[in-house]
Amino acid sequence: MTRRSFTADRLLIATHNPGKAREIADLLAPFGTKVVSAGELNLSEPEETGSSFVENAVLKATIAASATGLPALADDSGLAVDALNGEPGIYSARWAGPTRDFLSAMKQVEKALADKTNRNARFVCALALAWPDGHVETFEGVVHGALVWPPRGNRGFGYDPIFRPNGHSNTFGEMEPEAKHAISHRADAFRQLVEACFK
Ligand code: IMP
Repeated sequence: MTRRSFTADRLLIATHNPGKAREIADLLAPFGTKVVSAGELNLSEPEETGSSFVENAVLKATIAASATGLPALADDSGLAVDALNGEPGIYSARWAGPTRDFLSAMKQVEKALADKTNRNARFVCALALAWPDGHVETFEGVVHGALVWPPRGNRGFGYDPIFRPNGHSNTFGEMEPEAKHAISHRADAFRQLVEACFK
């Protein structure tokens, strides 16, 4: 498959989530790409009407690229719990409600798992890089782990305090950001993006 290389000097990060914007900026820092965030440009947040992580990432990236004339990178990600048939999945942010209350979202996950023994889950991250001419490249990364209760650690964001990646004893909420970046779903998707478009 022929991939398009990223050669522009500025990249728009099409997210309003400060946790994600920070992680994406960190992951792109080694490439010297200047990043601007959707929040800084006062872009509105499109409704996520897709039925998969990739569809939602493409939607966000293409709308941002055509609104600004800049290449735009969007991330759609979430927590998929095996015993809940992949929920909350693409609804991960929505389970936290309009006030983005992730303690409440984590409690809902725990409640839904009350009579289940399988605590396996994965974080998934879809990335879409869209150019203003309509070209789009997509990538999907994953990290497998297990859910813990009660939540542990106050680093990271979202569901990090209840997710313990396989092979580690700390949750993402307890890990140093560098340790999370080395193994996360977002890092996995980024490795694929960098390999395909930034080298
Ligand atoms: P969206 O992609 O903006 O629809 O939101 C995805 C949601 O999934 C985030 O708001 C978080 O709740 C959750 N999520 C995605 N990635 C992570 C992560 O690395 N740690 C914790 N939660 C995450």
